[in-house]
Amino acid sequence: MLPVSVLERAAAEMTDYQGSGMSVMEMSHRSKVYDAIIKKAEADLRTLMQIPDNYKVLLLQGGASTQFAAVPLNLIGKTGKADYIVSGQFSKKAYQEAKKYGDVRLIASGEDTNFAKIPEITRDDIRPDASYVHICYNNTIFGTKFNYIPDTGDIPLVADMSSCILSEPVDVTKFGVIYAGAQKNMAPAGLTVVIIREDLMGNALPCTPTMLDYKVQAEGESMYNTPPCYAIYVAGLVYEWLLSTGGLAARKEINEKKAALLYDYLDSQSFYKAGADASCRSLMNVTFVTGDEELDKKFCAEAAKVGLISLKGHRSVGGMRASIYNAMPVEGVEALVEFMKKFAAENA
Ligand SMILES: *Cc1c(COP(=O)(O)O)cnc(C)c1O
Repeated sequence: MLPVSVLERAAAEMTDYQGSGMSVMEMSHRSKVYDAIIKKAEADLRTLMQIPDNYKVLLLQGGASTQFAAVPLNLIGKTGKADYIVSGQFSKKAYQEAKKYGDVRLIASGEDTNFAKIPEITRDDIRPDASYVHICYNNTIFGTKFNYIPDTGDIPLVADMSSCILSEPVDVTKFGVIYAGAQKNMAPAGLTVVIIREDLMGNALPCTPTMLDYKVQAEGESMYNTPPCYAIYVAGLVYEWLLSTGGLAARKEINEKKAALLYDYLDSQSFYKAGADASCRSLMNVTFVTGDEELDKKFCAEAAKVGLISLKGHRSVGGMRASIYNAMPVEGVEALVEFMKKFAAENA
């Protein structure tokens, strides 16, 4: 979801952006008016996340999946080695992609719990000569979130935050690189945000495609080529909305309230079973099953009839998943819980 106020503003500005006589979709990315849009978007993101000056913000294309390759291409060159924690499907893909570029080791996996739990690691699990450690902070498909930030010492920690970015404050200084596809919590598809500590750039493998070289993108101020202009504009509107509603601290409070509505209900009954272990539940993706595949199907079909849509779990795991990203209002979650109660009473 995107905030309705953002969609309305984009609609109002669709054919004539602030007296420019054209849509943002039509502008040259090198025009003065677009330059102001992209600069403001970056500045607002920096304010929201309190991104320190020694970090670059890159506004790129290609989705989070392109970063599965870009991260090793840019960072593994230091020692040729990297360590990965696999806590779900996307981190597994990231790990498999990275293996093409060096000595990549799986240091912990949640596969033995079918990814219901976040694996725990300590400094001893990390190779001292790893160039970086990679995690996926929030596991969209399984509904788990890291309940700790792994202590990697001086080794940069790289995090895929596609499905939790801007959902609560994070200490950016704990990470070497944060990346996120924008389409879950920030903007329409097409934009990928990369936040990278400056000293980690400039060491890309010689085979790195120019477009994936963080240093090239940073020097070009995200305009080495045409950036995803319209998605950046909408992201900027979302950043303004977040700033005007209390920033990430306020957002965390609301998101915790929304998630608690669902988890408290799930824990209070036995018709549904929560997917994620209580120690590491996601604020953004709440997974559950009835234990009966036919009943799960019926749940999704009946929910859709009353306007509760997109509740089907990821095709790889089945069951249900309520994605309650920033723009989902509390009332939306309350409506879902009411429906769940009714469905349970009728089908128990
Ligand atoms: C959706 C998602 C991806 C894939 O993103 P694309 O932008 O489609 O490549 C990767 N990681 C996480 C955590 C996701 O939620």
